[in-house]
Amino acid sequence: MCSLEVKALTGGYDKQEVFNNLNLVIPKGKFIALTGPNGSGKSTLLKFFYKELVPTTGAVYIDGKDVSSLKQKELARNLGFVPQNGRIDYDFSVLEAVEMGRYAYSGHDEEGTVEQAMQDCDILHLARKRVTELSGGEMQRVLLARSLCQNGSVLLLDEPVNHLDVKHQRTIMNLLKRLVEKNLSVICVLHDLLLVQVYSDETILMKKGEIFANGPTESVICHDNLKEVYAIEAHKVHDPSLGRDLWMPTWC
Ligand code: ADP
Ligand code: MG
Repeated sequence: MCSLEVKALTGGYDKQEVFNNLNLVIPKGKFIALTGPNGSGKSTLLKFFYKELVPTTGAVYIDGKDVSSLKQKELARNLGFVPQNGRIDYDFSVLEAVEMGRYAYSGHDEEGTVEQAMQDCDILHLARKRVTELSGGEMQRVLLARSLCQNGSVLLLDEPVNHLDVKHQRTIMNLLKRLVEKNLSVICVLHDLLLVQVYSDETILMKKGEIFANGPTESVICHDNLKEVYAIEAHKVHDPSLGRDLWMPTWC
């Protein structure tokens, strides 16, 4: 069973078609990295899943259900989304902001989902703080907790660790990994090839609105693909803490 599927998708924006007959199957319960150069279509692809964009032709499916047939609340019960550089600009407390994730259940929370999500994201101590007073890393964790409250089986994240210091990057990435171990499907846009290789099970490598490569990360991230997609050279470096080799861009 796949978590997400794209069938013969053509579409994009009024002034620019981004995808022409795109097909993609994303397996369930894995950490999937979505990567590729700026403008290759990563954010646009995610938009079709949370219905910000509608296909011109073709369809996208979540857990086998055509997204176009799902009402907004139903969709929210299937899928959480953490936007790129997301902010909440209203004067809510952190607790109120996270509780907004329960709107798909009309605010009901008999099972303590909000508290669990806040614990998972390490923000319980921030519950009363105003969201307007959060650091970037704290806000990112609040947005993640809010999307976890939706209790979906799929979590989409668009560059969730941009602008975060290395400690907070690790906190978020480790949290995502734990969620995958709990059987969530995580699809995460990442630019950092190191994070892609350390954390993801599989990688979708995009180039100019097409899937250039897709499969186990160790086969997708390789010298030839990096050269072809990013026009860079790369070399292998051994990481003793992981006990394996990683591809590094060659800087000079
Ligand atoms: P990525 O997330 O991989 O950097 P995007 O999906 O944002 O790339 O962009 C894919 C293409 O769609 C780019 O050519 C970009 O200029 C275009 N694009 C992105 N957003 C819009 C928009 N709101 N209106 C029109 N074109 C857009
Ligand atoms: Mg983007």
